[in-house]
Amino acid sequence: KHEVMNCTSCCGEAYGDSLEKSMGKSGFEKLQADRRSLPVYSYREELLKAVEEHQVVIVVGETGSGKTTQIPQYLHEAGYTRHGKIGCTQPRRVAAMSVSARVSQEMGVKLGHEVGYSIRFEDCSSDKTVIKYMTDGMLLREFLGEPDLSSYSVVMVDEAHERTLSTDILFGLVKDIARSRPDLKLLISSATLDAKKFSDYFDCAPIFNIPGRRFPVEINYTRAPEADYLDAAIVTALQIHVTRPLGDGDILVFLTGQEEIEMAEEILKRRTRGLGTKIGELIICPIYANLPTELQAKIFEPTPKSARKVVLATNIAETSLTIDGIKYVIDPGFVKMKSYSPRTGMESLLVTPISKASANQRAGRAGRTGPGECFRLYTSYNYQNDLEDNTVPEIQRTNLGNVVLNLKSLGIDDLVNFDFIDPPPEASLLKALELLFALSVLNKKGELTKVGRKMAEFPLDPMLSKMIVASEKYRCSDEMISIAAMLSIGSSIFYRPKDKQVHADNARMNFYTGHVGDHIALFRIYNSWKETNFSTQWCYENYIQVRSMKRARDIRDQLEGLLERVEIEVMSSSGDLEAISKAITSAYFPNCARLQKNGSYTTLRHPQTVHIHPSSGLAQLLPRWIVYHELVQTTKEYMRQVSEIKPEWLIDVAPHFYQLKDVEDTGSKKMPRGQGRR
Ligand code: ADP
Ligand code: MG
Repeated sequence: KHEVMNCTSCCGEAYGDSLEKSMGKSGFEKLQADRRSLPVYSYREELLKAVEEHQVVIVVGETGSGKTTQIPQYLHEAGYTRHGKIGCTQPRRVAAMSVSARVSQEMGVKLGHEVGYSIRFEDCSSDKTVIKYMTDGMLLREFLGEPDLSSYSVVMVDEAHERTLSTDILFGLVKDIARSRPDLKLLISSATLDAKKFSDYFDCAPIFNIPGRRFPVEINYTRAPEADYLDAAIVTALQIHVTRPLGDGDILVFLTGQEEIEMAEEILKRRTRGLGTKIGELIICPIYANLPTELQAKIFEPTPKSARKVVLATNIAETSLTIDGIKYVIDPGFVKMKSYSPRTGMESLLVTPISKASANQRAGRAGRTGPGECFRLYTSYNYQNDLEDNTVPEIQRTNLGNVVLNLKSLGIDDLVNFDFIDPPPEASLLKALELLFALSVLNKKGELTKVGRKMAEFPLDPMLSKMIVASEKYRCSDEMISIAAMLSIGSSIFYRPKDKQVHADNARMNFYTGHVGDHIALFRIYNSWKETNFSTQWCYENYIQVRSMKRARDIRDQLEGLLERVEIEVMSSSGDLEAISKAITSAYFPNCARLQKNGSYTTLRHPQTVHIHPSSGLAQLLPRWIVYHELVQTTKEYMRQVSEIKPEWLIDVAPHFYQLKDVEDTGSKKMPRGQGRR
């Protein structure tokens, strides 16, 4: 267990601590009454009996019936934690954090003690922990240190219907260890009724049904497709708020991501200001993956009688989190989803129509406490004819590099015969093997190399961990872990207030002096902050998000610890920027693109037109040759976080991947071959 962080950031005021202060004894009693009122409560004994009699049980129950919060507690109360702990996996980090906070309250213990959580770069659990909520990806990583999960007596793979990549891999791994560990109990829980597939996969494991209560939900469609679903969602929310009596229920709006949610929040705030005092307050509660911990609890606070709550959520509120008191659901019908082309090896995130199954789950959120209404911002024709029945499992639409590296380091070599619940496309597997081979993670025989073994220690995507491991050769590991940490924050680094955009942009461009790329700018930001002794004031002055920087520091500390584990010295290149760029190229060479005459770029390996994201410091400079960190598709296919390289480096770092003809600079015929230019 190594990717740990102290609990300072998670066990603070937000949840557990404030409990004793604010709640007192009667509050605790009320929580116990709430627990007894959940649908799952009447099935407690029956469920425990099923678990006692069978090693694997599939549990199916409507969202909000109490599966996630109650079942681990029942098992704990029944003594299953006497010889091991209960692990409960969640596809989403916010869910792991929020649910563990709730359960620690219900059990009257401090979060991080008996009840804890573990998500990437943040471990809020201890030796005392007996109920541990964790992301599915974290349990996957625990296999590396504990291949038979011997410290667990129960593993509950929750939200199984989400079929994330990690959950799918976990299925295969837990099924395997269950054979050699008859004492281990497995629960697979799902919010949808097609549990037969899980049961079949787990050798006809019994299906335990928890009948939910569900009130009727009236579905409204739009008459014509909406041109701007965000605006339509806002207008609909305001209409509900103004025309429906206060106190009859809250509103839940499904949006696709943080940026969209922040935009909606701003517009809603502006428009409600003009409503006058006769209309009650509209309390706006955003919830998305990177929402700071202390704000996450807000969505669960009861709404005052004189106000209405509108929750602006990503897909997280579809089944992972249950928010009580929702009567109106607004569903624009979109979700941000990963897609992957095994042909080109390119992965991108794009806003995609949801499936019918998702649409029905979303509607269901309106009918938990009473009859509700769902406003679908698409036509009934769209629903019937355009939406797929189910979402394609992630394993079939993602890059498998990470998973293959993980499985290889677990000693699972025969990937084609791995017991997948749904196998990935063969082309994706091959592509992953090809990439890992190109990155020197695997040798010709498909075995893990020394470099690969080191890389597997890092909880990062293969190219990022390669960049770190490769930095040893270029003597810049110090810079590289800062860059990797900054790239892993997941939230925005820059702060760009509407009224000070010019100032903010100027401050940002300061870090790009000398036309450096985004990676080096990230490193400069980190270092400048460090030089001010991590000053908050400095962040304000430079329009940098303090919170993001603190997270970067936490991540960096952990990466530094991991460097030590793999015995790479922390070395600084002392200003040799070329060394840094070369180390980046030695990992990101598959993501190389070259400038075209019209200012767009073509990717080198599988030609495709792409563009530098406007937020990049190189967006105006347009260097001839670049490598990029990731592709995102919004209005165009954009490369985010790019750095300039010299084409001859490609031959240098990846002679097996590129040939001289690939890197000939056709645009500068007069230049001697192999000499890049600025
Ligand atoms: P399921 O897993 O079956 O969807 P849960 O166990 O997540 O159901 O939810 C049971 C109840 O616990 C719901 O009423 C939900 O609102 C409540 N709950 C869950 N997490 C929290 C939280 N962090 N704060 C307040 N209530 C919560
Ligand atoms: Mg749940």
